Amino acid sequence: MIGVTYDERAKRIIAILKGSVCSWNRCTFCCFYEEAAKDLGDLFLTGKDILLKIKELMREKPVDRLSFFNGGSFFELPLSVVSDLSQVTKQKLVEIESRPEFLELDSIHHLYKILDPRRLVIRIGFESIYDKIRNSLLIKGISDGEVKRVVELRGYMKNEFDGEVDFIAYVLFGIDGIDEQSVMASVKEFNKHLDGVIAVKYRMYHEWMPREIGVSQSLLEFLRRNCLDVDMTESEIWRISNQPCKLGDSAVIGDKDELKDG
Ligand code: SF4
Repeated sequence: MIGVTYDERAKRIIAILKGSVCSWNRCTFCCFYEEAAKDLGDLFLTGKDILLKIKELMREKPVDRLSFFNGGSFFELPLSVVSDLSQVTKQKLVEIESRPEFLELDSIHHLYKILDPRRLVIRIGFESIYDKIRNSLLIKGISDGEVKRVVELRGYMKNEFDGEVDFIAYVLFGIDGIDEQSVMASVKEFNKHLDGVIAVKYRMYHEWMPREIGVSQSLLEFLRRNCLDVDMTESEIWRISNQPCKLGDSAVIGDKDELKDG
C-alpha cells in the first residue's frame, strides 16, 4: 500500500513508493505491478508527497532507519527520485530492495555516494537456494550463477568497499510447491553466504496466483531462530493497493503493534 509508516520501537520509517512496473515482472507469486505508477508524472508526484511525509515525521520523531520499497528494484527509480530521497537518508540505516542484475560494484558505490547512509542494506528476492524452485516454479529469472556472483560481490565489498553494505536474502514460504525442508535449507545456505535472511510468508491476492499452504509450528520456530525477521505479511501496509495508505497520511505504529519487515 503506497504511503509512509513509522515504527516507534525501531525508530524506523517505512516508505512504499510508486515505481515503474518491475523490469522482470514475471514471478508467478507477484502482483506488485498493481501498485506501479500509471506514468512518470504519477511516479514523481507520489515520490515528492512521500518525501514530504518523511520530512514531517523526521521533525516529530527520532528516526534511525529508513526502509524504501517500490515494487521492484530501487535501482529502477529515476535518478531524480533517488536524489530527492538523499535529503533524508544521510547517516541513517537505509534499506532497499533489488534484483541481482542491478547489483554491481559501480551501481552500489554510486548509490552509496548519493544516499550517504550510515549503513546500506540491500534485500534481494532470491526466495530459494534451489534453481528448480526459483526458476521453474517461481519464474524468478535468477540463475545459480547470479546467486554465486552476488555472494562473491558481497565478499569483495566487505573487503574492498569503503562503506557499510549488507546483502540480505528473502526466502519465501507457505506457497504451493515449496516444501518446508527446502525452506530450511535455503535459510541455512543464505545465512552462510550473506548477511542474513528475512523469511516472507506468501499471500495469495488473486485466484490466478499459486495456492497458499499451511505452515507448521516447527518451521515457524526454525525461522524465528534463524532469520532476521519472519514477515507474516499480515500488516495492513502490505496490502496490495495503488491507493494511498488508509492508515493515515503518515501512520504511526506503536509498541503494541507488530510491524514486520517486507
Ligand atoms: S522481481 Fe520482485 S517485483 Fe519483480 S516480478 Fe519478481 S517479485 Fe515482483
